[in-house]
Amino acid sequence: MHDALASGVVVVMGTGGTIAGVSTTGRDQDYLAAQLDVTQLVAAVPTLATQPIESLQVAQLDSKDMGWDVWRALVQALSEALARPDVLGVVITHGSDTLDETAWLLHLLAPPLKPVVLTAAMRPASSVEADGPRNLADAVCVARWAADQGLAGVVAVLEGKVWAGTDVRKAHSRDIDAFDGGGAEPLALVSDGQVMPIADAVWVPPRGQWLQSMSALPHLPRVEIITSHADADGAVVDALLATWPASDERRLRGLVVACTGHGTWHRELEPALLRARRAGVVVWRSSRVARGGVESRPDDTWPVAGRLTPAQARVVLAITLALRAPPGPG
Ligand code: ASP
Repeated sequence: MHDALASGVVVVMGTGGTIAGVSTTGRDQDYLAAQLDVTQLVAAVPTLATQPIESLQVAQLDSKDMGWDVWRALVQALSEALARPDVLGVVITHGSDTLDETAWLLHLLAPPLKPVVLTAAMRPASSVEADGPRNLADAVCVARWAADQGLAGVVAVLEGKVWAGTDVRKAHSRDIDAFDGGGAEPLALVSDGQVMPIADAVWVPPRGQWLQSMSALPHLPRVEIITSHADADGAVVDALLATWPASDERRLRGLVVACTGHGTWHRELEPALLRARRAGVVVWRSSRVARGGVESRPDDTWPVAGRLTPAQARVVLAITLALRAPPGPG
């Protein structure tokens, strides 16, 4: 068990979400996400009042509407904050819906120097049982603890659990304990300002150095997700191929197939996927099944996305194509 020891500035970046949400009727179910600014979120946590914290509003949205414009602003802000010697780590308040995608984006792009801690809430800030203040307090605590331990990495802190950013995903649409690691265990538990690491848990440092260069990118290469299901055929794939000419920078560059089982798809889908591949589109297989993903095999003719969910795989493939130097799904 460790106390949160490190002093130095933690920058809390606000992006919106339910954690900043306010009920419109007094009932927790009826609320608008992204109503309070990040200084209000920090002010609602008494234990943060005595700590060196800086708040920065980077965006204000329901994370279901996440996109490259917001990610680019976040990437730029993160790049500046992490470069400051007085900053020991960054906490990002986020909506729960696409937190897993942002976590992978930052894992691929952030330099392996300092902790970056995402947090969210399942109840709006106006709820008498709001989970946001506790999650935010825990997230700052984990940032200080990790910096003190010399740990870099993108993690998510929710309901007293610290998840690797590469594992975390939303696993329940309503429960307050809504996240899991897709089969992986948490890295640590956190409670009352104490971080309790799980034995043998490994913090994987971020892979990138590309925050600065990516912040200039006007858009990500277009990568779409399609699902294999009963009656699936290639109509959607062909429609995507036909929508933009090869000269158009918005053209389809990648496809992630949310496959059945361990990476299979409907036989009627295959001809269109072959046409897409011949047109230069990179096709990855992921699984629509919640656990297990798709492992690579020596006789694979189509690349696999490993344990990534389809939404995570889409981010990784888009960044891979943007950098032209594949981080890949591994
Ligand atoms: N729709 C919300 C969001 O992702 C849900 C949440 O934050 O829990 O912004």
